[in-house]
Amino acid sequence: MPNDHHVGKDRRILILGGTAEARVLAGRLLTNGCSVVSSLAGVTENPMLPDGEVRMGGFGGVDGLVDYLSSANINLLIDATHPFAAIMSQHAHAAAQFLSLPLLRLERPIWQAQAGEHWTHAIDMARAVELLPDNAKVFVTTGRKNLRLLFGRGDLRGLIRSIEAPAENLPQNWQLLQDRPPHLAADEAALMKQHGITHLLTKNAGGASTYGKIAAARELGVSVVMIDRPLKPVCPTSFTIDAMIDAVNQRVV
Ligand code: NAP
Repeated sequence: MPNDHHVGKDRRILILGGTAEARVLAGRLLTNGCSVVSSLAGVTENPMLPDGEVRMGGFGGVDGLVDYLSSANINLLIDATHPFAAIMSQHAHAAAQFLSLPLLRLERPIWQAQAGEHWTHAIDMARAVELLPDNAKVFVTTGRKNLRLLFGRGDLRGLIRSIEAPAENLPQNWQLLQDRPPHLAADEAALMKQHGITHLLTKNAGGASTYGKIAAARELGVSVVMIDRPLKPVCPTSFTIDAMIDAVNQRVV
């Protein structure tokens, strides 16, 4: 770990987590003597916990986050939430501004379409569902939320994969596969072939551990309907954990 010396012993850092990168970052900062609290939304059963201090559950909006940051003596806030966790990022930005607290973001680079891939872009799930052609056989990896928009289209069928089971029962034209990353390209291709998939409906989460489905779609000529990332407030952003360690190191609290 090349950049991990002298990260700063007087830092009291809150990491807004829920991602694998946030977990690794917490361990790296702890190793360097920082005081770190990781915050999880508490929506996942049996979450993989980072090393060190962990708090669970929502803060109660911006006001609740401001109260927490003040009472826990946090002097650096790191937003390492998932690219699609837009509300938490907005709240983090507003609370940091209110308290004049430094805010840094750790964000995975987006996936870019490669030659030979057929992507259609959607702003959200509602638009993505509209873009699917009649009778498509769809591999859905957008998570367990907003599926009822999909179920409104009775002509669609296919496979839904999510870590947690969706709240609603699946109509009979859909199958559920509960599984968590990493997913290798070869396994994704076999799965898509097995289910006769014509379209991949996914969101631009980025990262290597779930990229296999994109590579598999390219190999099989499966069209991709890609939900693009929501906009997040602008703040200093690192795209790798090493870069974030450097950013923390350079910051004078
Ligand atoms: P969201 O829509 O941005 O946030 C909804 C609410 O959940 C927030 O207002 C906040 O409640 C609470 N919350 C979110 N992240 C939190 C955190 N790290 N610590 C404490 N409270 C948090 O978020 P989401 O899309 O539901 O995602 C929830 C969590 O799952 C996030 O931490 C995210 O990193 C992780 N995750 C999300 C996705 C995804 O696709 N959205 C995928 C993988 C992991 P209060 O207003 O009460 O503070």
